[in-house]
Amino acid sequence: MAIILDGKKLRDKIFEGLKTKIEGMAVKPSLAVILAGDDPSSEIYVNNKKKCAEKLGINSIVITYPSSVTETELLSKIEELNNDKNITAILVQLPLPAHIDKFKIIDAIAPQKDVDGLTTYNGGKLFAGEKPYVYPCTPKGILLLLDEYGIEIAGKHAVVIGRSNLVGKPVAQMLLNRNATVTMCHSKTKKLSDITKTADILISAVGKKVVGENMLKNNCVVIDVGIFRDENGKISGDVDFEKVSKTASYISPVPGGVGPMTIASLMLNTVELALIG
Ligand code: NAP
Repeated sequence: MAIILDGKKLRDKIFEGLKTKIEGMAVKPSLAVILAGDDPSSEIYVNNKKKCAEKLGINSIVITYPSSVTETELLSKIEELNNDKNITAILVQLPLPAHIDKFKIIDAIAPQKDVDGLTTYNGGKLFAGEKPYVYPCTPKGILLLLDEYGIEIAGKHAVVIGRSNLVGKPVAQMLLNRNATVTMCHSKTKKLSDITKTADILISAVGKKVVGENMLKNNCVVIDVGIFRDENGKISGDVDFEKVSKTASYISPVPGGVGPMTIASLMLNTVELALIG
């Protein structure tokens, strides 16, 4: 049976360390979150982030806009926050309303306040193999989880399913920077299971049930990023957890794996940005 990669336990350990660190900081970290539109999941995520920040002693403000918000309004708010010395980190909650150019909005954030690490500047640094101000939260959380359990990355074959800018691409690049051999898969990939069967580390970031039994080699490490909600509202991941955990060596559960690590990384990033000033 696979060992569970316990994201909640590691998150709590990270929070303990952060609390003490923040108490001793001269400049308190301040996170500004922009929430545009009325996506119910986004509202829940943003509230969780705010509560979590406050528990750790991070100042947090949420600026909300209706779905009719214009790009000009968002850009002007971001400019204001970029210039506000009391704000050390800015997050734009995705998805944005369909008429808004999300790339334009994200790129308006000053790179040294870009707590999600999603601006072209920070992404460019990551892809050049240089150090960005911070790494994107979910990929960073995944690597922290692998490291916590002493899972070797260098020389391993990592297969990443999903190629979003938020998860798939940056996690693949971070693994490559740590000397894994990386294969990326997506919706047009043919014979997915032929590829996943060669993975030492499999990361699935899709949001659909794509990883079943007989798709993995024995003792593979499985990281499930996906969030899949069934008709009864029950949350699970991309992976058939019950069956796959019989052959994997390690597996991250959903919930309780990557999710808590994403929020832990967000808090870590907020503190890191406050320290650079
Ligand atoms: P996304 O932007 O929708 O990307 C999904 C990716 O999956 C795309 O690259 C898509 O390929 C690929 N895909 C779709 N169907 C596929 C299939 N049948 N076989 C192989 N690949 C397929 O999603 P995302 O933002 O990366 O998020 C992915 C999942 O992770 C979602 O469930 C999201 O809720 C979850 N998530 C969780 C956390 C967390 O903290 N736990 C954080 C972020 C995201 P194409 O590019 O070809 O369309």
